[in-house]
Amino acid sequence: MNSIINLEDKINELKKTDKDSYKLFKSIFLFSSASGTMKIPSTFKKKLRSYFGNRDEKGNIIESEEEVIKRIRNQKVVKTYNKWTGEGSLFNSLRASRPGMKSEERENEKRRIKEYIEQSKEDCDFCDPKKYTPEDVFGRIESKHCITGVNIAKYDAWSSVIFFNKHDPLDFNLEEISDYIDTGFKWFKKVNNQDKQFKYPFFMWNCLPKAGASQVHGHAQILMANNIPYAKIQFLRKIFRNYMRLTGKNYFIDLYKVHNALGLALDGNVNCFASITPLKEKEFIIISKNNPSKDEGVKEAIYKVLRCYIDKLGVNSFNMAILCPEFRETMFPYIIRIVDRGSIFKPTADIGAMELYGSSVISDDPYNLIKAINDFK
Ligand SMILES: [Zn+2]
Repeated sequence: MNSIINLEDKINELKKTDKDSYKLFKSIFLFSSASGTMKIPSTFKKKLRSYFGNRDEKGNIIESEEEVIKRIRNQKVVKTYNKWTGEGSLFNSLRASRPGMKSEERENEKRRIKEYIEQSKEDCDFCDPKKYTPEDVFGRIESKHCITGVNIAKYDAWSSVIFFNKHDPLDFNLEEISDYIDTGFKWFKKVNNQDKQFKYPFFMWNCLPKAGASQVHGHAQILMANNIPYAKIQFLRKIFRNYMRLTGKNYFIDLYKVHNALGLALDGNVNCFASITPLKEKEFIIISKNNPSKDEGVKEAIYKVLRCYIDKLGVNSFNMAILCPEFRETMFPYIIRIVDRGSIFKPTADIGAMELYGSSVISDDPYNLIKAINDFK
């Protein structure tokens, strides 16, 4: 079975069967692995079996104490590093081998989330945005499934919100999410018409407070920057230009090609993949030269990934961002990044000092993610 822990085998295979992809991998990524071990006091072994032992559907541990201890004693860590972007992740065999949520647990969590979202309806300002949110100087853009308004504490000079008609942010179909995206791009156009200096669009969706949202009610945010794009987008633009200057090629296409060769791309016509240097759990990246609001395939890919996250993988809070080229620019692509932010019922933050100042520590195997999404109907 494919696993990020066996990435080395996959790369060695490429070296033999697909030299171009192997070279491409080497030109973008650094890869290494290391094993760590430890001494475990006998008094601790029983507890460790209950913490880490693999379980069957009913929750019974199916591994012996020896088997569990062996896995804990021999931990392999796979490290990936993108030489161009400086992004890097650590995958630990012990974390990666952990089974996903059981269907019973998932159903239970879904029920609790429904209750939590239902309770937040009371006194929700976003359920009545015309009454309880400000609007832009040019008014609101109202569409079939959403309406715009202004972020009361603006991130930037142009900083607005798309309020979804539905309170529940996890309840959306393809038509609805397409409408949210289309509305965002209509707003970008409107802002640029109003003031030509503002030409760097940014679309983002923080779903639920664990992912940074201040309100439960479904909403995405839209911003337009002047002068330069937001820092991380500007950084990617620099890399894109440097890569083009030094190699004569498109960095994002090569990034996709490497992931495709490693078996991490989504089937179909849209260039998207489960990243080997995810920022955090289950990071998924979609690259498109077309504006997502004019490309049904891109919208379908976004929809499929998010629905798979929510319905199959039990994700409830996530971030999604659409990184855009400058207005009327045609070289830099649209990059959609989606990441899981963990259960809203877990009080621990998913990001710590390692992610902020070191490398990202990742539990979910990108190979499990791509399989789940490709199998998802
Ligand atoms: Zn609401």
